[in-house]
Amino acid sequence: MIKKASTPMMQQYLELKEQYQDYLLFYRMGDFYEMFFDDAKKAAKTLDIALTKRGKEKDQDIPMCGVPYHAYEAYLEKLIKAGFRVAICEQIETAEQAKKRGYKAVVKRDVVRVVTPGTLTEENLLKPSEENYLLSVVKFKDNVALAYIDISTAKFYFETCEIKNLETNIKIINPAEILVADSLLSEEETKFLLQEYKNIIIDFPKNYFAVKKNEKIIKEFYKLNFLEPLGNISEIEISAIGTIISYLQVTQKNNLLNLNYPQKIEKSNFLQIDKATLNSLEILTNPYNQQASLLAVLDNCKTASAARELRRILAYPLISLDKITQRLDRVEFFYNNNDLCNELSSYLANFPDLERAINKLLVNRGGPRDFLIVINALKIICVLKVYFRENSCKYEKLFAKLIDEITDFSNLYKELDIFQTSPPLLCREGNFIKDGVSEELDYYRNLRANSRALIEELQDKYRHKTQINKLKIRSTNILGFYIEVPSQMVDKMDKSYFSHKQTLANYTRFASEELNNLQAEIFAAEEKALNLELQIFKHALTKLEQNVLALKKVVKIIVQFDLFCNFADISHKNNLTRPELTNDQDFYVESAFHPVVKKFLPDNINEFVANDCNLINENSIWLITGPNMAGKSTFLRQNALIIIMAQIGCFVPAKSARIGIVDKIFSRVGASDNLAKGQSTFMVEMIETATILNNATNKSFVILDEIGRGTSTYDGLSLAFAIIEHIHNEIGARTLFATHYHELVDLTKLLSKISCHYSYVIEDGDKVIFSHKIKKGNFGRSYGISVAALAGLPKVVIARAKNTLADIEQKNNINLNMQLSLFSPNKIKEEENPVRDNLGLEVLKKLNELDVDNLTPKQALELLYDYKEETK
Ligand code: ADP
Ligand code: MG
Repeated sequence: MIKKASTPMMQQYLELKEQYQDYLLFYRMGDFYEMFFDDAKKAAKTLDIALTKRGKEKDQDIPMCGVPYHAYEAYLEKLIKAGFRVAICEQIETAEQAKKRGYKAVVKRDVVRVVTPGTLTEENLLKPSEENYLLSVVKFKDNVALAYIDISTAKFYFETCEIKNLETNIKIINPAEILVADSLLSEEETKFLLQEYKNIIIDFPKNYFAVKKNEKIIKEFYKLNFLEPLGNISEIEISAIGTIISYLQVTQKNNLLNLNYPQKIEKSNFLQIDKATLNSLEILTNPYNQQASLLAVLDNCKTASAARELRRILAYPLISLDKITQRLDRVEFFYNNNDLCNELSSYLANFPDLERAINKLLVNRGGPRDFLIVINALKIICVLKVYFRENSCKYEKLFAKLIDEITDFSNLYKELDIFQTSPPLLCREGNFIKDGVSEELDYYRNLRANSRALIEELQDKYRHKTQINKLKIRSTNILGFYIEVPSQMVDKMDKSYFSHKQTLANYTRFASEELNNLQAEIFAAEEKALNLELQIFKHALTKLEQNVLALKKVVKIIVQFDLFCNFADISHKNNLTRPELTNDQDFYVESAFHPVVKKFLPDNINEFVANDCNLINENSIWLITGPNMAGKSTFLRQNALIIIMAQIGCFVPAKSARIGIVDKIFSRVGASDNLAKGQSTFMVEMIETATILNNATNKSFVILDEIGRGTSTYDGLSLAFAIIEHIHNEIGARTLFATHYHELVDLTKLLSKISCHYSYVIEDGDKVIFSHKIKKGNFGRSYGISVAALAGLPKVVIARAKNTLADIEQKNNINLNMQLSLFSPNKIKEEENPVRDNLGLEVLKKLNELDVDNLTPKQALELLYDYKEETK
């Protein structure tokens, strides 16, 4: 218990603050949320508002700052973004109720909600096209359970993964806040990973996650005797779900939603994409350009709900041929029926964020404006219902079930269409229900309006009676109604009739019995009207609650239609084609392009060059050589993206595509392409490669981009070779391997399933021109020096580099040949070695370029020896 504070109010404040020490306490006083002491200092600084003071505590001024109640959201947003958590404390009784308890009683207050980044419902604190998840992570041995909820949409999921996949899952979930046991922050396996999220983590002692306790929490919350309805659920999953619920109970107080049971995500039902792949393919985000992720390019959804769903399905592409085909059929329908697509899209474009409005209302945080959103949505649903009825013949059987499941909400619409079109933000401001909805409400509104007229009448009467023309009847919130006259005229006021109320510098204020009675009537009418409106609001809320499931179902259907139309629309705009999917292991695309790179080509490149790719069982690995900037990485990624697009049921960027469904997709980029992240980049590269070799199957698709680059040439070359060989012999995954080690071409000659390709470069004297065309065969040399020339390195440096290269190549050729013979002693004949064949040409070229006039005799002699050595 806190020591006695200087005032009862401060005493109340300190008691509340003690319970919410880690939070900023928004302490409601009249029309403001006030903050005191350190809270005030921190908030004033973050919000850039005035820090004032109020009273003293232990002879020290109490720092104070406040934000207005009616506009608190903007301030809250700033604070939450700055990493604060805020406890909102309201007055939970009226001043009159407090007075009844005693003259000096302080109005009762309590915290009604704790605002944390993972428990937001305010639309201006949320991104429309992203879910806002609160995530709980529970680990036991090598497994981790994750439960996560977005209370603004009431989506609630859980899943279990191996510890090594935790990072990927967190990346996909993209949580706003994470609950973990404090022990995880020090455990070797998790501490580095969680470090990255330290700003959004809340840690609890281990017993917070105790299974028995959390089982009880779940059972009580869902009023269950057994956990069967949640399906097959493990102990760590129980902990994860239970902790989510109890955290919500603490933060949301009495306003917790009727949550559906959390849904289990079975990762094995989806195409698995790990974190490194998500990053390297820039599927959900692109760190350099927001607009240049696959998601951004594919998202032209009309509704926020569909945009959120698109993000989800991109992280969870399908693997069931039937399901993919079903989606593709529907997309194709809209692709072929552009007019229907446009018609439907024009309805959807006006469809508001019903999902979030409903949930905000159901947690008692909504106001009349949220109801307007619901009403607008209902109106559009009604229009859609009629539209589908009238046009059913145009829609194929494909959509019959979906269309059929759209509930007819015309009655609910009529029942709820009782709100004024531009209502105040908050219920307590009143005046948000239309006239004509309730006779009683109209009666009190009339009474109130009449009373206003009566006040005017009274004012006229008093002017007449006192002969003071300047007499006015006015009102303030605190004084109520009063009669005001200029002070020099007070003598004219009959003191037996008017009683004195207040004297100001220039005016004196009076009351009268008549006025007091009238005031009581007006206040009563106002209060009655407001109470009636609040009752009507509550009734509307109940109606909404009764229809929540049906409404959510309709949102789901609308999301489906929005996605089909979106994909159809995107397909037209980006020249996409319906892919053919199969259950075999082929991958064939013709004239394919990278959907993002094509859109963001730099000005100096006119056109994106389309490329084919054909991986079949006997030829499942493509080795792609070529200089930097030739388009290797782009080629690799476009093929991986095509698979992802196909398996979410979207058309793909190619003239034609036939794709055997992929179970896992892996994309890795050699170390030097990665940004440093504390660990040795080469180590990261190898860890990631290890993941591939340990997890890929013969149904997987692997792209390896310059793997082995992060170490010395021969290390890297040998590793690259060993990795390819392993994939070739043991895994059998479809693989694209880009490398600037042209020597790999020779090393892999014996691996039958490898087919060599190169990015074709046109030479023009010292210059190279990138054709960006991928061709079959091998160019057998790197163009590093030509690229350097292109980049404007001084001529002498280029010439010198060429000499040195020739020198090194010649020396290493011997080593390389030794290596080759190690890998396969008998099969590689020297004269088959194209590296060597090139050397004669190199020497000729060098002779040609030699500036003989500027050589000393000694240099000339040395060069002669060198050339002789080279061509031996
Ligand atoms: P590499 O991996 O061979 O170094 P990249 O794939 O990174 O080359 O491509 C370098 C740049 O070339 C890209 O950023 C893009 O601007 C351009 N580019 C790549 N592929 C193509 C293509 N097929 N058509 C046109 N421009 C391309
Ligand atoms: Mg590259």
